Amino acid sequence: MHTIEADYLVVGAGAMGMAFVDTLVSETDARVVLVDRNHQPGGHWTMAYPFVRLHQPSAFYGVNSLRLGGDSIDQIGWNQGLYELATAAEVCAYYDRVLRHQLLESGRVTYFPMSEYRGDGRFTTLAGTDYTVDATRRVVDATYMHVTVPAMRPPPYPVAPGVTCVPPNDLPKCGAHERYVIVGAGKTGIDTCLWLLGQGIAPDRLTWIMPRDSWLLDRAKMQPGSLFADQIKAGFIAQLRAISDATSVEDLFARLEESGGLLRIDPAVRPTMYRCATVTRLELEALRRIGDVVRLGHLRRIDADRMVLDGGAVARAGRTLYLDCTADGAEKRPATAIFDDGRITLQSVRGCQQIFSAALIAHVEAAYHDDRAKNELCVPLPHPDTDLDWLRLALADYTNQLRWLDDPDLTAWMSAARLDLFGHLIGHLLPPASAKPRVRERILGIAKSVFSATAAKLDELLSEQTPLAAP
Ligand SMILES: Cc1cc2nc3c(=O)[nH]c(=O)nc-3n(C[C@H](O)[C@H](O)[C@H](O)COP(=O)(O)OP(=O)(O)OC[C@H]3O[C@@H](n4cnc5c(N)ncnc54)[C@H](O)[C@@H]3O)c2cc1C
Repeated sequence: MHTIEADYLVVGAGAMGMAFVDTLVSETDARVVLVDRNHQPGGHWTMAYPFVRLHQPSAFYGVNSLRLGGDSIDQIGWNQGLYELATAAEVCAYYDRVLRHQLLESGRVTYFPMSEYRGDGRFTTLAGTDYTVDATRRVVDATYMHVTVPAMRPPPYPVAPGVTCVPPNDLPKCGAHERYVIVGAGKTGIDTCLWLLGQGIAPDRLTWIMPRDSWLLDRAKMQPGSLFADQIKAGFIAQLRAISDATSVEDLFARLEESGGLLRIDPAVRPTMYRCATVTRLELEALRRIGDVVRLGHLRRIDADRMVLDGGAVARAGRTLYLDCTADGAEKRPATAIFDDGRITLQSVRGCQQIFSAALIAHVEAAYHDDRAKNELCVPLPHPDTDLDWLRLALADYTNQLRWLDDPDLTAWMSAARLDLFGHLIGHLLPPASAKPRVRERILGIAKSVFSATAAKLDELLSEQTPLAAP
């Protein structure tokens, strides 16, 4: 058994672990041991299906200290007119560069790939060597989000012999099939449908198993930078107005949809799911061409000639390829204290912005002194799953943002953080740091009172609600 002394032991070199270590190394002189069971950094991106791209612009993904991509605007394809989306290969190459040049060259980070963490500061390398890290400050759990992608495990339902059911990773090498059944309607299911349609497969050769319909975000409304400033500002103001004018939760969703803040695939079916999935309008139009959507709950098993679902069986004939898109890439994990004695558990502190959250937690760790104050600034927000979670997340986001706006140093840090999408928005709404302090104070005061009123209204709407029933 070897013992290493360090300030921090970080378990997990996925996107959150990397964003955390990057900020910690930039803002402190800490020594870090980074351990991961994979052979390279990037976490689930190293196992992603080959046609996956980031679901959000590269412009605010990655780590704070290094830009991802070239901030170009796509000229072709379903994302045209919007900021580029890195491919999985680009994301992995980027993390490799961050590891080598930002972290290892600092001389303060020691990286152990192919190493299994066993708890209590102990890990074992591929060669079988056991290490104990004597972490003088913290052990950081960067695995808590439990990201699962289909390639990590077999389908969670029995599949009859002779039936081909694969994760989307295998789709490009499976050759032509008469029919394709896409199991699951989260972002992986959406990507898989779009990839097939993009290959020219007629929509009537697709069957889409959709246990729940989802509210979706319009990617055009998640663009950073001055190019989209007017659009982003208008979208945000429309959201504030929708919340303020809503007379019930149902009415709120109608208003959010009306203003383009939320989208749905089938206008006739009211979504009961919300998981922050993003699409463009062009992608939405393409998805709407798929007519054979099976809304009979979850798939329970695939027999040779039929699919058995919660709500009944559906016959299948011909050479069918089943695509398992059911893994939970963004599980709704219970919130737990982020700073807890010798531990840090990385979680989202801004809705669906895990990467920014990890960087912010590192900054708070570096810049503040007691755990109570740190936890007050970093209140975890579980990932959303249902329609009502849209309200819970928005309420938590406004509440956290109010806390942060009360802290000028933190507000200044956020406005310089490239990972902060909301910061881009706040930058459009608030006067610059160079503005006269009195003007800045006044506008900040107005923003705070609007956010407070919005949070109070969300709270009121939530307290009146029982979950919306599926239609
Ligand atoms: C297809 C897909 C697309 C996505 N697109 C976006 C997007 O555009 N924007 C966005 O913000 N989010 C996106 N997400 C959400 C995604 O969850 C986050 O972006 C982020 O990648 C999560 O990173 P993580 O570090 O929490 O988890 P992971 O990527 O799962 O990293 C955890 C790491 O911990 C390691 N590990 C676990 N247990 C151990 C152990 N015992 N010992 C050693 N190592 C261990 C694993 O090997 C892994 O490398 C996407 C998710 C998916 C599935």
